[in-house]
Amino acid sequence: QGYYTRRGGVGESGDFITSPEISQVFGELIGIWYVSEWMAMGKPNTFQLVELGPGRGTLTEDILRVFKQLASVLSKCDVSVHLVEVSPKLSKIQAEMLTGGKVQPNPEDKSAYMKGISKTGIPIFWYRDIQDVPPGYSFYLAHEFFDALPIHKFQRTEKGWREVLVDIDPEVPEQLRFVLSPSRTPATQNFIQPEETRDHVEVCPEAGVIVQRLASRIEKDGGAALVADYGHDGTKTDTFRGFRNHKLHDVLSAPGTADLTADVDFSYLRKMAQGKTATLGPIKQRQFLKNMGIDLRLQVLLQNSGDTATREQLLHSYDMLMNPEKMGDCFNFFALLPHHRLVHPDKKDKPGSKSPLPPVAGFNELLLK
Ligand code: SAH
Repeated sequence: QGYYTRRGGVGESGDFITSPEISQVFGELIGIWYVSEWMAMGKPNTFQLVELGPGRGTLTEDILRVFKQLASVLSKCDVSVHLVEVSPKLSKIQAEMLTGGKVQPNPEDKSAYMKGISKTGIPIFWYRDIQDVPPGYSFYLAHEFFDALPIHKFQRTEKGWREVLVDIDPEVPEQLRFVLSPSRTPATQNFIQPEETRDHVEVCPEAGVIVQRLASRIEKDGGAALVADYGHDGTKTDTFRGFRNHKLHDVLSAPGTADLTADVDFSYLRKMAQGKTATLGPIKQRQFLKNMGIDLRLQVLLQNSGDTATREQLLHSYDMLMNPEKMGDCFNFFALLPHHRLVHPDKKDKPGSKSPLPPVAGFNELLLK
């Protein structure tokens, strides 16, 4: 039914709400992360910000505001924005949010289907697939993107691995049900890791393919990727669920009308990047945001806000993002970085010349000088 292409319910009036929709601070700190990595990597004179699944465009909007505020730092850098979005409905909302609606369809260029200029003067392009984004030094962002991609489900049985499939219930017409494949399937043979110890596993091969692409691009052209999503490090089993109007919804009823989601298995993403890039995390959202300085940012916003309602809103959204019972613990941050960003390449000729590499923001404790 194409949930995202037809309904695409991100936001308060939709089916689920995401961190950038809750607080501007979230996107601002992610914007700082990119500026910090750009500086650590020697301030290259150009970079692309590539976002996968930008939703309503709020996260990019907040990041671009940071880039504008830090214009003196970024002044000599040529920045462009590249959005990978399949939903015509959401791409319209993004265009309105980021450019005030000043976009053009782009039929002469087969890769980007739309282009425009952000309110802050940065060129923005829209694509349907990461492979259409031109090569070049890029910072990638995927927030609540991988959890939206389809998964395979597997169950260990006495006879070996079986795939969980969807079937029509013979007793109740129009109703779907889960069944186990009677024998092995191509997916059971290809997608389960030989060392797997769990009895029930969810695998998202599309996420694996996209991470391999990101890792290859970073290895070849440089940059970094930041992935944030709810997920686990290869420990959880049955996480597939649906949301409609902000309530849990049976995944098999009224297909196409609810957001379907499964926790991201970061151990699988790490495996897919292996060899090409280094990885950091997953680290819990509350730890990452704390390391990025969310407490300081909150203090500044509280000091600058005159009215009680705004202050209450700021404290409420901080609690939503940071409280371990809310989004603080179940959301994780994970990064792909070139190997040389974490480990000095061997300089055999000048062994004494190694200066320490700057720590990667967010994944290390914030030290105030
Ligand atoms: N990052 C946003 C939205 C997350 S919702 C936020 O945090 O608010 C998931 C997003 O991924 C939506 O924009 C959806 O349209 C997009 N999406 C889903 N499947 C996709 C696919 N296969 N390719 C590209 N975008 C996809």
